[in-house]
Amino acid sequence: MTYYLKYRPQKIEDLDIHNVRESLGKIVASGKIPHAFLFSGPKGTGKTSAARILAKVVNCQANEKKFGEPCNKCSQCKSITRGSNIDVIELDAASHRGIDDVRALRDAVKLAPASSRKKVYIIDEAHMLTTEAANALLKTLEEPPDHVMFILATTNPEKLIETIRSRVTNIVFKKATEKEVERSLAKIARGEKLKDKGALSLIAKKSDGSFRDGAKILEELVTQKIKLNTKDAEEFLFKKKTFNIEELLSHLSEKNTKKALKEIEGAVNAGVSLEIYTSAILRRLRDALLNKVGLEGEEYAELNKKEIIALIRLFVSAAIELRGAVIEQLPLEVAVIEWCDEQSVQPEDEGEKKVSKGGDNGNGENVDTGDSKETTPVKKVVFHSKKKVKEVTEEVWTKILLAIKPINTSIEALLRAAKPLGFDGKVLTLSVFYRFHKERLEDTHHLRVLEGVVAEVLGCPTRIQCLLAEPQAKQVLKVEPKEEVVLTDETDEDIIKVAKEIFGN
Ligand SMILES: [Zn+2]
Repeated sequence: MTYYLKYRPQKIEDLDIHNVRESLGKIVASGKIPHAFLFSGPKGTGKTSAARILAKVVNCQANEKKFGEPCNKCSQCKSITRGSNIDVIELDAASHRGIDDVRALRDAVKLAPASSRKKVYIIDEAHMLTTEAANALLKTLEEPPDHVMFILATTNPEKLIETIRSRVTNIVFKKATEKEVERSLAKIARGEKLKDKGALSLIAKKSDGSFRDGAKILEELVTQKIKLNTKDAEEFLFKKKTFNIEELLSHLSEKNTKKALKEIEGAVNAGVSLEIYTSAILRRLRDALLNKVGLEGEEYAELNKKEIIALIRLFVSAAIELRGAVIEQLPLEVAVIEWCDEQSVQPEDEGEKKVSKGGDNGNGENVDTGDSKETTPVKKVVFHSKKKVKEVTEEVWTKILLAIKPINTSIEALLRAAKPLGFDGKVLTLSVFYRFHKERLEDTHHLRVLEGVVAEVLGCPTRIQCLLAEPQAKQVLKVEPKEEVVLTDETDEDIIKVAKEIFGN
């Protein structure tokens, strides 16, 4: 069992985040435990652990008369700790996000608990529920049976529908402080009888407010038989040849794809945890960025501010994708390749017409005057229209695909499988063939990016509406080249081919 699981807190007073310990402690002491909670906060901050503790509080056999800390000895407590209590149900909303899942849940909720006092539903990543599913859940939250308690956990509370948020007691799990992570590491060190604990504060510093990451780093050091003094740990984590962030950044700043990929491969072959590696990259970039804006942080002269921000964005999304990656290093490799390629297709300003939204001061120059280095010359890609477009023709559709590609490849991939149905001057309706695609496209972030690009191409603010189509439905669309559309001077054969197929040319 990993350290993180082995040493996960079993009581409220064991919880390492101060404000969570306090709030839950007060609620339990009040004797009135709400029927629905929302635990929100970053990953690895102990939301699931706290949810299980709460499930024990309401079901512990020692708590029959009065709520208090769970005894962790009775059969209820023990089975919840083991994860085998049939009345404590943990669901991952990412894989049970549909309306049918929630309907099944609604029916199950009505049934009395098998052996516990309360059935506890712990719904992880609750923001992943579809709108329909969330609305169905809402009905249950409005009139819950007495024997049920819900604990929704999420890393993105703002994505939950407001009506749900207003019906739950929200407990905010802030990113842990270094002291809090160190406290949890000290418990592990005690439990494992580890000598030499100088490295704990260093690990706490490197774990970015995540108990899980902290425990993982400590475990890695122990497995690799590294002494836990500051010097050896520091050396292992950041100075090893196989883990050379400076080297990687230097290849990236030279846009040397091959060497950068080789650097990553080296780290993989050396068995470095890619999560730790990625967060080390991000921490170095953050340092460099802070330095650029005049704050404390180590300088990185080879990259300018815009470049650092672009790299941070790429590695942040790699870090997110890392968790579910089939091939472990793939997200990092994609980030590297996108970075080295994207430099040459970034939209640039063209005369008096502004194309790009951020950063540029209107002359196509970098606003960051503190930089001695010039921005790399970029190929010109023009995405905007001279006039407002009235119809979404094949050419327009191709332009939308081309414009979105350098910004977000997954939206582009989704659009390839969609079809423009109509455009009424305000709303562009797309026909989508799979529910999953529709949900992905309707994701708030995706939608915002897409609407931004479409607005630029069509020359007016545009909303996107997605309709789930019958697979056979034939769409009749006018295919008529429009003069007012300025085609890019960068063409992409592949995209054009796909657009032709869709338009039946
Ligand atoms: Zn108990």
